[in-house]
Amino acid sequence: QVKQEGKNNVFEYSLKKREEHARNALLERHLRTAVPNGELLLLYQPKLDLRAFETVGVEALLRWNHPTLGMIPPDEFIPLAERKGIIVDIGKWVLHRACSDIKALQQKGFASLHVAVNLSVIQLEKDDIVPVIADVLHLTGPAPRYLEIEITESAVMSKVEAVIEKLHALRDLKVSVAIDDFGTGYSSLSYLKRFPLSSLKVDKCFVHELGTQKADKTIAKAIIDLGHNLGLRVVAEGVETKEQLEILTAQECDEIQGYYISKPLELDNLEQFLLQKTDNETRSR
Ligand code: C2E
Ligand code: MG
Ligand code: MG
Ligand code: MG
Repeated sequence: QVKQEGKNNVFEYSLKKREEHARNALLERHLRTAVPNGELLLLYQPKLDLRAFETVGVEALLRWNHPTLGMIPPDEFIPLAERKGIIVDIGKWVLHRACSDIKALQQKGFASLHVAVNLSVIQLEKDDIVPVIADVLHLTGPAPRYLEIEITESAVMSKVEAVIEKLHALRDLKVSVAIDDFGTGYSSLSYLKRFPLSSLKVDKCFVHELGTQKADKTIAKAIIDLGHNLGLRVVAEGVETKEQLEILTAQECDEIQGYYISKPLELDNLEQFLLQKTDNETRSR
């Protein structure tokens, strides 16, 4: 009996592995044509400045709308795109889309709206990333200071020195650099010293239990103070409740992002969101 079950488990395991393999192979094949087929789209999540209580910018978040598999979240295809090098072309598309969308919004009256774009380390390690970004800005039109790139520290950053040099070149262009998911994984303190950063994003894992876990409250406050002492703006992600907003306000966090403010939105809905906010603010004055 036991032996039988063991055998079944092994069988099921290898079946599962095979299915996973098949799905990955399929995703990879389709991912190569996702850009030309127009299957990628960007959602935009507002960033709220806590002092002004205004939306100061948005973060571009990538989605893959596959014709048969439906909407695929980035966590499922970005690691694959990175392994296969497809991320470079996808990343260019993202930069292009995000910069032209922000330019369009600026022209519609949201003149000082910023856009943040997540960049893969693979992209940053490419020799031509700085001219690529400069070209995109030139072609699409927003002033470079309205573009911020978010980087997630990762184990695979092999060319640290070269990356630091490129980040300096980006800063010379006036593009801002944020470190994402701070406090988790590989985002170590030494990078704070060596990277030319403009802001730091507190990972959502410290935000989620801000109201109930004393340790998280202490950690969030420590990260906020650390960022400020280094001259950086501090952004908290994953804010889902009023209580979290209030704690972060008391802790003097600069900006927040999260479902409590807004989910990531399609461009049209973002415009509606920005209009409503402006409306409310004008009315309450
Ligand atoms: P991230 O840059 O740290 O983005 C934050 C993630 O948290 C997003 O997930 C967002 O939808 C989600 N989020 C926002 N507010 C809340 C909240 O209140 N509660 C919770 N539980 N989650 C919230 P998403 O869109 O699935 O993206 C996941 C990750 O994929 C991103 O993490 C980023 O690292 C990566 N990514 C997204 N777009 C791109 C891209 O264009 N290029 C690259 N290289 N990576 C991207
Ligand atoms: Mg991000
Ligand atoms: Mg993050
Ligand atoms: Mg992340």
